[in-house]
Amino acid sequence: MREILATPGATRYILEKYGIRARKKYGQNFLIDANVIRNIIDAAQITEEDCVLEIGPGIGSMTQLLSEAAGKVICVEIDESLRPVLAETLEDCDNVRILWQDILKTDLKAVCNEYGGGRPLKVVANLPYYVTTPILMHLLEQKNVFSSITVMVQKEVADRIRSGPGNKEYGALSLAVQYFALPEAVMTVPPSCFIPRPGVDSCVLHLKAHEKPPVECGERVMFALIRAAFNQRRKTLANAVSHGYSLEGRQFTREEVTAALEEIGLPPTVRGEALSLEQFAALSLIMGQNTDHNTEEKDTL
Ligand code: SAM
Repeated sequence: MREILATPGATRYILEKYGIRARKKYGQNFLIDANVIRNIIDAAQITEEDCVLEIGPGIGSMTQLLSEAAGKVICVEIDESLRPVLAETLEDCDNVRILWQDILKTDLKAVCNEYGGGRPLKVVANLPYYVTTPILMHLLEQKNVFSSITVMVQKEVADRIRSGPGNKEYGALSLAVQYFALPEAVMTVPPSCFIPRPGVDSCVLHLKAHEKPPVECGERVMFALIRAAFNQRRKTLANAVSHGYSLEGRQFTREEVTAALEEIGLPPTVRGEALSLEQFAALSLIMGQNTDHNTEEKDTL
């Protein structure tokens, strides 16, 4: 039985031994509570059949326990100064592979094919907070690469993800997540569970991928509409979409957008932030008929 790293004592010992200071620029807040880690792994329903992608293993506290639960663990870590640490802490974990690179520059489809044999991976991570939204977007842009995503995020981000039309937190991230999965908050985690302590509460979110898309839509057009709506959220949707925005290579006039809105029973003055996923989807089907390529591949948000 190896020593549990996720305790204040063991974590401090490792950091001191290797002369390592948690690096703010990489969002390093190490988990020091093994129960929180066990809850994350339980929520992710990891079995020996699974290939797990862990983003940012840090000193390996969660990786050790993932290695016991999963068939394979692929870690992506940007901070190469952690090499000697992980060489020690994961010494006995034969099913762990570390890729020393930036997750945002990682070809996730290639990782899935190479290490998961093409079967969807499960993502498990205590995410670096400075870059949570870009990482989630990078994951959500993939198709059939992940079967679930279980992550620690700032509580405020979890609230944003779970919010709906009419809330000020509602945005492109909420819609992208809700299109992929029904978000479930597993637990709130206080700052005392980390070294160093973050300034805010955290929350573990579990996103289990929908078996089939929750709405019928033209994906590229729908995500282009969402991007236009929330890039200029103070504007009416008709103005946001018609002012210089190109949907799939086609410019729309205010009148055309207004007519499409009317078709789904919405007033011309409606703002994008008032539309549900279902309404964006319906709009994408109407407006998609008038674009050059209404393909099914999701656009970059
Ligand atoms: N998993 C560890 C734990 O729970 O104690 C560490 C979590 S810490 C919040 C975030 C980790 O992500 C750090 O190890 C950090 O170096 C790594 N990281 C930050 N930005 C990254 C990026 N763009 N790509 C890959 N890893 C990154």
